[in-house]
Amino acid sequence: MSTRRKLQIRNLIKKALKASRRQKEPSCALIRFGCSRIQKIVVLCISVCMLFMVCRTAVAEAIDQQNEPQKKVAVIIDDLGNNMKGTKEILNLPVKITVAVMPFLPTTKQDAMEAHKRGHDVIVHLPMEPKQGRPEWLGPGAIKANMTDEEVRAKVTEAIKDVPYAIGMNNHMGSKVTSDKRIMSVVLDVCKEHGLFFVDSRTNYWSVVPELAAKKGMPPVRNDIFLDDVHTIAHVQRQLAKVVEWLAEHDTCVTIGHVGGAGLKTSSGLHLSVPKLKEHAQFVGISDLVRDVWGWTGDPATNTTIPSDAQ
Ligand SMILES: [Zn+2]
Repeated sequence: MSTRRKLQIRNLIKKALKASRRQKEPSCALIRFGCSRIQKIVVLCISVCMLFMVCRTAVAEAIDQQNEPQKKVAVIIDDLGNNMKGTKEILNLPVKITVAVMPFLPTTKQDAMEAHKRGHDVIVHLPMEPKQGRPEWLGPGAIKANMTDEEVRAKVTEAIKDVPYAIGMNNHMGSKVTSDKRIMSVVLDVCKEHGLFFVDSRTNYWSVVPELAAKKGMPPVRNDIFLDDVHTIAHVQRQLAKVVEWLAEHDTCVTIGHVGGAGLKTSSGLHLSVPKLKEHAQFVGISDLVRDVWGWTGDPATNTTIPSDAQ
């Protein structure tokens, strides 16, 4: 082979090697391919992280639910509607409660609307004749033992219409009337027709209300513990400790306190005891209790008066 031919071959090999080296360098397409792979890996990493966070939240929620006490306490506070002492403090409680608002009084609508706005349950606190006690304690629209069935029916209907957002009713005083089968039968009938249940406040040991309610297919719900028959914070706290004792043997507890003379003591006792009580029970509205325990499905929405400025 001539020297010239050898040189030509060497040049060709050099060119081929150069070309092959050029091909090995990453092309733009390769760079693009690399980027999209990195993007895919980043997206995958983010997805895995998000999935992990979602799972962790779900597990934490499940653990919280498992740790949440299963017992239920419904606190009812009576005697709202007359700008009574302790009303603001009671409505400010950090847990769901039920307020029993008396009809036909200066702050009836205001108190009911404010309670509803804060997520509390509202019931009608219907004045009923007691065996003893001053007539002026009764308040307007009271049910008395000498009334006819028609008179009782009219009074109860008017009271329901006067308290906005009411989903139930309980008795103010009433030690005489709650043991009267005729009258209480009419009261419960009107409540049922309006989708309301009736809570027996237990002002009379001989009350016929739970038995009558059960016969009429209504929840036989009643007060278990009075919070403030003595007007001191210490007494209210002692009664709340009794609620915990009660819950050791029962799944639910209904407990009743008041605004008015005892209002500030009752609200202070509750504010102080709520954190401890929350370790033992969930605070529920009385509507939650009658639905969960007795399957109550009464719907008062179509009958309850809602002021136009509250809508
Ligand atoms: Zn009362």
